[in-house]
Amino acid sequence: MSTRAPRVRYRFAEFTVSPSTRLLLKGDVEIPLIPRYFDLLILLIERRSEAVSRDEIFESVWNDVIVSDGALTQAIRILRRSLGDRAKEPRFIRTVSRHGYRFVYDGVVEERGSENDDELVAAVRQWVDREVVPQAGELEQADEFPQAMFDQMCEFGLFGSTIDPAYGGLGLDAATYARIVEELARGWMSLAGILNTHKIGATMIGRFGTEEQRSRFLPRMVDGSFRAAFSLSEPDSGSDAAALRCKAVRDGDEYVVNGTKMWVTNGVRAALVMLLARTEDGRVTAFCVEKPPGETSFEGISVSRSIPKLGYKGIETVEMAYADHRVPAADVLGGDEGVGHGLRYALSALELGRINIAARAVGVGQAAFDRAMQYAQERETFGKPIFEHQAIQFKLAEMATKLQAARLLTYDAAAKFDAGERIDMEAGMAKLFASEAAFEIATDALRIHGGNGYTQEYDVERYFRDTPLMIIGEGTSEIQKMVIARQLRDRHAGG
Ligand SMILES: Cc1cc2nc3c(=O)[nH]c(=O)nc-3n(C[C@H](O)[C@H](O)[C@H](O)COP(=O)(O)OP(=O)(O)OC[C@H]3O[C@@H](n4cnc5c(N)ncnc54)[C@H](O)[C@@H]3O)c2cc1C
Repeated sequence: MSTRAPRVRYRFAEFTVSPSTRLLLKGDVEIPLIPRYFDLLILLIERRSEAVSRDEIFESVWNDVIVSDGALTQAIRILRRSLGDRAKEPRFIRTVSRHGYRFVYDGVVEERGSENDDELVAAVRQWVDREVVPQAGELEQADEFPQAMFDQMCEFGLFGSTIDPAYGGLGLDAATYARIVEELARGWMSLAGILNTHKIGATMIGRFGTEEQRSRFLPRMVDGSFRAAFSLSEPDSGSDAAALRCKAVRDGDEYVVNGTKMWVTNGVRAALVMLLARTEDGRVTAFCVEKPPGETSFEGISVSRSIPKLGYKGIETVEMAYADHRVPAADVLGGDEGVGHGLRYALSALELGRINIAARAVGVGQAAFDRAMQYAQERETFGKPIFEHQAIQFKLAEMATKLQAARLLTYDAAAKFDAGERIDMEAGMAKLFASEAAFEIATDALRIHGGNGYTQEYDVERYFRDTPLMIIGEGTSEIQKMVIARQLRDRHAGG
């Protein structure tokens, strides 16, 4: 996809300010501002031809919460200081007595249209460093849903990241999406998990839904309020997906669904479950199952248990039972013509999902490498930093090499996807290599930390628990090898 959602960005003097990413940059340097001050700055810029009254500021920035004039004065002072504005000679923000404040610089350039995707990646990276890295360990141990982080991800537009702009999404290409996933996972793998099933659902609908289904679901999916889960696996079928048993029997204008689904990540908070079930013709069909988000029981759907996990905390992975749950026939993905094609639709979306998992592995691998590198230079044994021992240097050299190879395979698969090429082999290779590499890197990072690596006081313990999931989810390493081998045979047919 090459079109981008229209975004706006303001340039004035040496500053750039971008409302969609909430970034204030002086050249390449980010100027940190708390969100409310940022909103205030944007308001003043957008209304720059007039003075904006205190009441209007309270109403639109503070949402009518009563704050003192002192708080506003303080916010203006900080804004001025951040912009290098001297009070006596305001270059950007002036106090207009009794009328409020005015943005006075008249050289504001407003850029509409596409915003450089690199900026979005940079904004996510900076946010991850600032907000996610310091808090991830604590939230992980509390196994708590990261509501504030989720809100910020919505704010960035990440839930609509790959949805076509025609339906309100950002329409990012796979390469950009992979870099964003990498950044999120570098902070906390669970954040990438919140996004992933949604993304698989949106891809299935975007590619295989009828126009009516695309128009009905996709616009609601862009802002994160209507999230999707993906439900293929069952207690007795994972790798052998085609062996699934969940049944959907047609009854008039509806299908009656019975069965048990396993490993439904985001299953409770989702408003839409992309459900794979066997229809009467024996083939697998995909259904768009709507349910109230947050509820564990609804018209025959029940969350039968929450699965306790080794890592990947903070988001729910649940078992869901269907007992005579009725789905309108209009919600068969692809309409009547989609009956029997569900597995193909799901596997096609999983191709992109595998790029996501590979990117996730690169992100966690990078975090593990960074921590190990830092620790090796700080920790001393036998009178010198452990980095000076050749055995440790060799370990880090191997870790860095594996990481780079994983990253390049991932970006290559994403670039080929964007070029419209068939990528089952490339995505399989990227997922296979990156997930195994991340597990090895995390293990080595833990070993470099010695006893500290075995405690919850250091992040490497979390990476060690999180990385095995990348080897298992969306097709184990063995399954990737089968996919790669099948492609090798097809592509080299005839010798
Ligand atoms: C935390 C978590 C979240 C998940 N979230 C979701 C989700 O949101 N939605 C969803 O649908 N699923 C989800 N899954 C399920 C996941 O996709 C499956 O666990 C995975 O596909 C493997 O299936 P399985 O667990 O049934 O293992 P099995 O298929 O039973 O495999 C067991 C072992 O046998 C190996 N094996 C199997 N067949 C072969 C073969 N032919 N040749 C060689 N080796 C083989 C496997 O590689 C594996 O090592 C999740 C899983 C986890 C752990």
